Amino acid sequence: GYHRVLEENRKLYNQVQDLKGNIRVYCRVRPVTGGNPNHQGTVSNVEEGSISVMIPSKNGKELKKTFSFNKVFGPSATQGEVFSDTQPLIRSVLDGYNVCMFAYGQTGSGKTHTMTGPNNLTEETVGVNYRALRDLFLLSEQRKDTVHYDISVQMLEIYNEQVRDLLLTDGCHKRYPLLYTNYSNNGINVPDANLVPVSSTAEVLNLMNLGHKNRAVSSTAMNDRSSRSHSCLTVHVQGRDLTSGNSLRGCMHLVDLAGSERVDKSDVTGDRLKEAQHINKSLSALGDVIASLSQKQSHVPYRNSKLTQLLQDSLGGQAKTLMFVHISPEREALGETMSTLKFAERVSTVELGAARVNKAGADVKELKEQIASLKSALARKE
Ligand code: ADP
Ligand code: MG
Repeated sequence: GYHRVLEENRKLYNQVQDLKGNIRVYCRVRPVTGGNPNHQGTVSNVEEGSISVMIPSKNGKELKKTFSFNKVFGPSATQGEVFSDTQPLIRSVLDGYNVCMFAYGQTGSGKTHTMTGPNNLTEETVGVNYRALRDLFLLSEQRKDTVHYDISVQMLEIYNEQVRDLLLTDGCHKRYPLLYTNYSNNGINVPDANLVPVSSTAEVLNLMNLGHKNRAVSSTAMNDRSSRSHSCLTVHVQGRDLTSGNSLRGCMHLVDLAGSERVDKSDVTGDRLKEAQHINKSLSALGDVIASLSQKQSHVPYRNSKLTQLLQDSLGGQAKTLMFVHISPEREALGETMSTLKFAERVSTVELGAARVNKAGADVKELKEQIASLKSALARKE
């Protein structure tokens, strides 16, 4: 009866979602910082779904190059606005799906600002991580009469292709590289890492602080290591339906990626070169995985980096991916801005959109009709 209809509705909803694509790319341009007031930015025309970059050319004129994404946020966008569209993703974690949200961009482009927020956090300035957890708690509370949820978090760092646990309380010297189990389909790919049960945002904030402290300890020794490692806050959700007793699992990875800037190989040697090579390898592996997913290729190259292995069961299939791509608007960042936008264009489904939109148009219409008829069937039952 009722449950079957709900189930049908959910299936249809997912089909519609599939047609819309499970990979979204949002672009965010931060304000110009610390320059002189006449400082000219490279970015113009930030619109709802597109961004244009002005490229100086030889004859003194400027060339304008435009890129389209699912959404583009300009320098004045607030933390709340940037987060506001992610609600369906949060909801789907509680429905048993896996979700990945990434922050990509060169060092200084605003990745940590988006995911964590600025140094002095307030209600207005907190970032995606905190807001996502706050919404998870809120939604799970709203459903408490039908589903019981257990929520727990892990916080990991990938540095030089080694995975470390950021939630150990006994200091960074005790951190150790972790072994992977095989692809488990439940998001728990690093079972040895601390998995801490949480029931309030206050608890989560404490854990995030511990994680940031653990990260900072190694930064002082090795000079801002945080921009050269990926950090990943993973939220595991286990739900139990109070009437049927059925259970489900979902997880959400919130990833602050290492800075995407290319380093000049002639400038760096030793440790720095090794770091740069590891970052290069993992970011291009991530790009390859997402690009092959968005092009619906049959082979997805997850195995090429620790990052893609860690996130394997949350990329592709029914999983939903959102990439926040960050742009520094200053002129001296133009080279990196262009390579960031090209990376984003490659992993985005927007380019392929045209062909699919038509098909989606017809299918969505058909699905809508089915939903309407199911709804009226439901109404007759009640
Ligand atoms: P990343 O993590 O990519 O290296 P950060 O998030 O640390 O970059 O940002 C670099 C600087 O710019 C920080 O001082 C940060 O507070 C500031 N900043 C970044 N994005 C914004 C924004 N949208 N609005 C205001 N300041 C920002
Ligand atoms: Mg950062």
